Amino acid sequence: MPTLDNLKPLITYLKETQNIRSAISLLSWDQETYMPSGASQARAEQLSGLMGMVHERKVGREMSALLSKSVDLETGELLSGISSWQEEAAALLREVWSDYHRARQLPSKFVRELGLETALAHPVWIEARQNNDFKRFAPHLQKIVALKKQEAEYLGYKDSPYDPLLDEYEPGMTVAQLVPIFASLKDKLVPLVEKIAAAPHQPKTDFLDAFYEESAQIRFGEQVLTAMGFSFECGRQDLSAHPFTTSFHPSDVRLTTRVDAHDLLSSLFSSIHEGGHGIYDQGLSEAGFGTPLGEAISLGIHESQSRLWENSVGRSLPFWIHFFPILKETFPSALKDVDLASYYAGINRVRPSLIRVESDEVTYNLHVMLRFEIERSLIEDDLPVSELPERWNDMMQSYLGVRPATDSEGVLQDIHWAGGAFGYFPTYTLGNLYAAQLFNQAKEDMKDLNTQMEKGELLSLKSWLNDKVHRWGRQYTSDELIRRITGEPLNPDYFTKGLDEKYSKLYRLS
Ligand code: ZN
Repeated sequence: MPTLDNLKPLITYLKETQNIRSAISLLSWDQETYMPSGASQARAEQLSGLMGMVHERKVGREMSALLSKSVDLETGELLSGISSWQEEAAALLREVWSDYHRARQLPSKFVRELGLETALAHPVWIEARQNNDFKRFAPHLQKIVALKKQEAEYLGYKDSPYDPLLDEYEPGMTVAQLVPIFASLKDKLVPLVEKIAAAPHQPKTDFLDAFYEESAQIRFGEQVLTAMGFSFECGRQDLSAHPFTTSFHPSDVRLTTRVDAHDLLSSLFSSIHEGGHGIYDQGLSEAGFGTPLGEAISLGIHESQSRLWENSVGRSLPFWIHFFPILKETFPSALKDVDLASYYAGINRVRPSLIRVESDEVTYNLHVMLRFEIERSLIEDDLPVSELPERWNDMMQSYLGVRPATDSEGVLQDIHWAGGAFGYFPTYTLGNLYAAQLFNQAKEDMKDLNTQMEKGELLSLKSWLNDKVHRWGRQYTSDELIRRITGEPLNPDYFTKGLDEKYSKLYRLS
């Protein structure tokens, strides 16, 4: 039976390619953390050059020759029949071929052009956001949208040009599957948001914007990350405009956060969130590094890891039974008159707001739906980029009842479009849904999980995730993995039921 051993030359080649990709990730990480602003043109060229090299390696003659020893390059079928292969080796070939097939559809010239445009757009987006100047960013965005439409044509699609873009982040997912999921969520979330807004009992929240010294916030975040099992021997945390996680190897995983002395929650929850991503990356197989067996399945599954830690753990009462006294010691004057119950209610306040990354669990998915609708309008219906701010603001009004006063608080807030990441946003909501389903299963499997959390013991949850999710890499598809772990396909009811229970109690809804 052919095994991974029979694929050694291919695996060696894939690892070499991954080392270049890791160098690209390091340059990008540096671009968003420490790079001097004057270097942006030179960096754009470095990134574009390396990305072209990677693309060439993914689709070039050497790759074709290596892969064609085991796979029919046109159809993806294994030459000696799939059942004859060891399961891991067959999964590796399936995923490598799927990457190969996708990449081969994009001409190298196109990939270089997209890389250069997005690298140039990045500093312009930062400046436009700082100066509330959408007009400055618009021509860059218009170019990127045109390139993404071209990409969809290269990749091909059956129903919507948005499908192949979405498929890059959530393999197998389509607009046709997402629309009913989002519609049913919206039907449940909008009335819940309204009931909460109308509730006579509202939490005290004035302590949230008291003064919290910035370096103490960072230290507290690192304490929580350590308890979660994030390894600082194999990772670090820095500052950036928009928090993110990137990984060069399971032994080198970088988190970023941002910190504001008058906002306790922004840095804390971004640390916990990015920590969830980081723990996934640190938990991937080192032996599988460079191959699909050492890679994350999809962004939706990646986001399920960050959301599980952020919401199911970080916004739960058991977690704060342990950590609130430590937080109070760290910030004695800001939290002087706050007890655990009012703290827990305060950090779970539901309030329609302008900024997605700072929004609460209940309204968050409405922010995502708005972006999904706008992306579809840009990609499917030719909505001109110049009309984006107006469209954005109108939709905020109708989904959340609030209207941004500036584009910095509106259409310019996210980094994604500047990077050409269309089809990415829906994975945030999928992550929320997967997270709720996985956490429900973790509680089934570990009956004393709440008690452990009350003691600040989070490591068995981390090991459970290592074992059930992280170590498999892309051996299973997201659908297969969720079924294997929970015994059923993606089921949004765990998410909506969980919210109903939690917020009915917090807001004393009848
Ligand atoms: Zn995330």
